[in-house]
Amino acid sequence: MKFVTRATWGAKPPRHPLVHIDSTKGVTVHYEGVTIPKSLAEPENHTQCDDRVRAIQHDHLTETKEDYSDIAYNAVVCPHGFVFEGRGAHKKTGANGNKELNKARYAVMAMLGDKGLKEPTDAMLEGLRDAIEWLRHDGGAGKDINGHRDGVATDCPGDPLYTWVKNGAPRPGGHGTP
Ligand SMILES: [Zn+2]
Ligand SMILES: [Zn+2]
Repeated sequence: MKFVTRATWGAKPPRHPLVHIDSTKGVTVHYEGVTIPKSLAEPENHTQCDDRVRAIQHDHLTETKEDYSDIAYNAVVCPHGFVFEGRGAHKKTGANGNKELNKARYAVMAMLGDKGLKEPTDAMLEGLRDAIEWLRHDGGAGKDINGHRDGVATDCPGDPLYTWVKNGAPRPGGHGTP
């Protein structure tokens, strides 16, 4: 796994202590759902990915309505397949829509748009799979994988990723654990 720790991407500390969680039923997959230039997926543009993660954390820390303690997701996966540590393992997410859903599953977000970059790259699918398996091994996540729209009325994680989730979130090459 191409893992980027909070220290490496320069995370700010949480605003409030994060809630410890022993285990979950599984993982909910999200997308960013904004306009993302297709060019972000070019290899040389990976240098922009940590800027985007810091910007997402900044948005969440300054979001007054939701009163997030930190970046809402447990992990963020970029088009190049890097897994950025968000809240991390054993931390309750703030992204799934309500308290019940936040306790039930971790949240992994793909840096994928609703305009521009809308189709996940193979590297991104590998990274999402890596993030899910990391949360299973290190966070006590159960086998369940769903999409944000399974819990609340939203387009998230977009049709291409949702189809992948419904197919069991396979690795693109068909290797490894299904
Ligand atoms: Zn979502
Ligand atoms: Zn990247």
